[in-house]
Amino acid sequence: MLGARVERYQCRFPVVRALNPTVAEEADMASQYQDHHQFYVCRQCGYQITAPQWQIAVGESHEHVQCNPFGITFVFGCFSEAAGCGVIGAPQDAHSWFPGFFWRIAHCQQCGEHMGWFFAGNRDPFFGIILQRIRLQDTPTQ
Ligand SMILES: [Zn+2]
Repeated sequence: MLGARVERYQCRFPVVRALNPTVAEEADMASQYQDHHQFYVCRQCGYQITAPQWQIAVGESHEHVQCNPFGITFVFGCFSEAAGCGVIGAPQDAHSWFPGFFWRIAHCQQCGEHMGWFFAGNRDPFFGIILQRIRLQDTPTQ
């Protein structure tokens, strides 16, 4: 069963590998597959948005609570990567929750649901993903 799962991930996440990988390389690849056992998917359509190993802390916290100018409160988590998100709109600096960062809207590439924001600026870019709009899933759906 485990073997079947690893094979499936080898298809989904091709890794450039040497013809004769060393034991250390094999172990490293195995741990990469383990990291991919869980995904965050869009709560609305199930599309794979991001994964736990991409969680990062920004301003010493992964989770942030912020209120937009319309009085809507969002609880979002920071991720270095959100491959399932599309990013639209011109970068905005008005009302940015992170000084020095511009934001753009990030949405689910499959259903278009607003997932959060992509922040880019003078430090490493990241995604702020609204935690209510994703759920943790053991295996990808597609
Ligand atoms: Zn979706």
